[in-house]
Amino acid sequence: MATVPKALNPYKRPAWKPRIKAGQGPLTHSKFGGEPWLPLGEPWPECPNCNEPMQFFMQLDLNKVPEDLQGDFGDGLLQLFYCTSEEPDCAVETEAWFPFSKGSLVRIVHPIEADAESEAHDMGLEIESFPQKMIVGWDELLDYPDPEEAEGMGADLSDDDWDTLEALEKKGPSIPRDGDKLSGWPFWAQSAEYPDCPVCAGRMQFVFQIESELNLPFSFGDGGCGYIMQCEMHQDQVAFSWASA
Ligand SMILES: [Zn+2]
Ligand SMILES: [Zn+2]
Repeated sequence: MATVPKALNPYKRPAWKPRIKAGQGPLTHSKFGGEPWLPLGEPWPECPNCNEPMQFFMQLDLNKVPEDLQGDFGDGLLQLFYCTSEEPDCAVETEAWFPFSKGSLVRIVHPIEADAESEAHDMGLEIESFPQKMIVGWDELLDYPDPEEAEGMGADLSDDDWDTLEALEKKGPSIPRDGDKLSGWPFWAQSAEYPDCPVCAGRMQFVFQIESELNLPFSFGDGGCGYIMQCEMHQDQVAFSWASA
């Protein structure tokens, strides 16, 4: 049986796949869709292109990530909103696939105890929320980088290794893992591309991957994949981008 080429071993890392339960749960809980926690008195985020409410995609309680990752991403709630408007076509008009596009809002908010569990505001939303799926746990997976990305980092892959990788790819699981996951290595739908931090220009690190039509009823382009990144030094600097398959 083929095993992952040794040249990729130094880059081996754990990734965590969210365990999902549909339905209700606390506002501040990690989740896809449904109701996000919003700071008291703050209106629901709007898209600056169409002036309509953005769709809520997900939030991740950074204080409740798996133990091995505790502290790696700071604290607070990492939230992603995204404009799904087709008329106007906000994704195209804002080039929402690029990091720092106006067509998406990714941010970290800090609930304070007093209002963290407060009732949801009446949003008066005209868009229908995506079904709420609570993230109730994490399953640890072994992850390897995209072989081309690994080569860029100095991995020396022989022709045999590439044949092995091709065989492994057919058998699955993919290298890196596809699907929604926390940490590990990005499954690049196109080539590897990490945004630069707007503050220090350093390369941002991978935090979370969102696959099309998995936990969200939404497709990034043609079944692509979305990536949330963060600056290790400036943890309030987060970015979202996606690439079409
Ligand atoms: Zn819009
Ligand atoms: Zn930075």
